[in-house]
Amino acid sequence: MDLYEYQARDLFEAHGVPVLAGVVATTPEEAKKAAEQIGGTVVIKAQVKVGGRGKAGGVKLAKTPQEAYEHAQAILGMDIKGHIVHRVMVAQGAEIAEEYYFSILLDRAERQYLAMCSKEGGVEIEQLAEESPEKLARVNFDPNVGVTGSIGGYIAAKAGFDAADAPALAKVFKQLWKVFKEEDASLVEVNPLVRTGDGRIIALDGKVTLDENAAFRQPGHAELIDESSVDPLEAKAAEHELNYVKLDGEVGIIGNGAGLVMSTLDVVAYAGEAHGSVKPANFLDIGGGASAEVMAHGLDVILSDSQVKSVFVNVFGGITSCDAVANGIVKALDILGDTATKPLVVRLDGNNVEAGRKILAEADHPLVTTADTMDAGADKAAELANK
Ligand code: GDP
Ligand code: MN
Repeated sequence: MDLYEYQARDLFEAHGVPVLAGVVATTPEEAKKAAEQIGGTVVIKAQVKVGGRGKAGGVKLAKTPQEAYEHAQAILGMDIKGHIVHRVMVAQGAEIAEEYYFSILLDRAERQYLAMCSKEGGVEIEQLAEESPEKLARVNFDPNVGVTGSIGGYIAAKAGFDAADAPALAKVFKQLWKVFKEEDASLVEVNPLVRTGDGRIIALDGKVTLDENAAFRQPGHAELIDESSVDPLEAKAAEHELNYVKLDGEVGIIGNGAGLVMSTLDVVAYAGEAHGSVKPANFLDIGGGASAEVMAHGLDVILSDSQVKSVFVNVFGGITSCDAVANGIVKALDILGDTATKPLVVRLDGNNVEAGRKILAEADHPLVTTADTMDAGADKAAELANK
């Protein structure tokens, strides 16, 4: 889960990372009040989960509360790379002497964590990494050791900082490591990390990604979820603990096993090319024990997607045999009754396939077509979606 900048700021503050005052506002009036409360020059910052807000006009300095009002008015409602701004953060203005970059992330290839640091912050880091990789220090470290004072000093030195500046930077790196570790993050990025005119090191913009697999031991994280940005279909699927991801197509997909579902997406995308370029509408893995209830919940989620025109159920019977799955489909359609209105193509194979096909044939449901192979099923589902 990616956090908004103001949420990252709050986490930073809670772990002792130096930040400036920041208050969230959803209206220009609130922004004006916040500016009065903070005092002096403030910065009005669009709160969207996408980078490059500055360039897009979503970060503006305001010298007076009235100016804060006007900037907030202009920024609220703005569309930044497809993200509508519903909130701004009114942040205390900083007198910036220099802008740096620092991040901690998971390095899957090295099976370690990676700290990255540059004296040239504020800019797009992808661009810096590509154009001047020598200016971006990369230091792997052992998760069990973390960023100690000496590793922090090494990172600073590798990024080209003077030895005299290293201790102050290393202290902040250590605090950011504390955020990463104690919050179970998979990314903590500060861009820019600034040195102010009076020599303080401050995290001016933060990006944090939390590892959702750690939710069980991070009860505080639930309240960081932004309900308004959660897809309603994904929310419905999550209620029933389904592994569902909404995609942007017309053919609903249900399968058992992540690998089979992934290949089903590929096969449907390929088949769709011959049928008006229809595409898979979702990923849904109903797992091994495909009970009627799970099948019904899965179908229900997919059929509530108004973009879906047909559904392809692609199941390989293993421990749960095909007859059990077929019964599940028949019962699921029973449970759904009139709410099931879109054609279903079912391909069963594997354990007890004959019995499974017989059950479907006998039920003879008007919405169900069967297919013998995955390719044939994908083709039929794509054809139905294109009607
Ligand atoms: P981003 O463009 O989405 O990464 O937004 P940032 O929060 O990083 O802001 C972009 C740029 O605005 C920074 O690199 C700074 O140059 C500038 N900026 C942000 N906050 C302040 C501030 O308090 N004072 C000054 N002078 N500039 C700021
Ligand atoms: Mn930034």
